Amino acid sequence: MAACIFCKIIKGEIPCFKLFESDKTLAFLDIGPLSKGHALVIPKFHGEKLTDIPDEHLSEILPIAKKLVKVTGAENYNILQNNGRIAHQVVDHVHFHMIPKPNEKEGLGIGWPTE
Ligand code: 5GP
Repeated sequence: MAACIFCKIIKGEIPCFKLFESDKTLAFLDIGPLSKGHALVIPKFHGEKLTDIPDEHLSEILPIAKKLVKVTGAENYNILQNNGRIAHQVVDHVHFHMIPKPNEKEGLGIGWPTE
């Protein structure tokens, strides 16, 4: 979709810090991280909500999110996927947040949602 920010990232028209890419899936760092390592995993297929995405375009998402968790070494983390404004969705291209939650020793206690 021409005006979609994440479609532009997929096409390379907007830069991102890329973590993983395949023919179906892209993972990159969130531009406004809620914690160090906050990443987004997205299907390359454009759809606004989870129910708009064919199953075959979702199959890699959780395995990749799992790999990213392992890379950050986070023991505590959230995997989040928002659908619709009331549910805090801002970008209308399906995306899964992988948000490490640093423990008290590491000095940050970032919550979600941030209300
Ligand atoms: P939502 O509230 O829709 O689930 O979250 C959208 C996320 O996309 C936000 O965490 C926001 O920081 C991130 N985001 C929005 N625009 C960009 C961008 O241009 N680049 C990157 N890397 N992340 C973005």
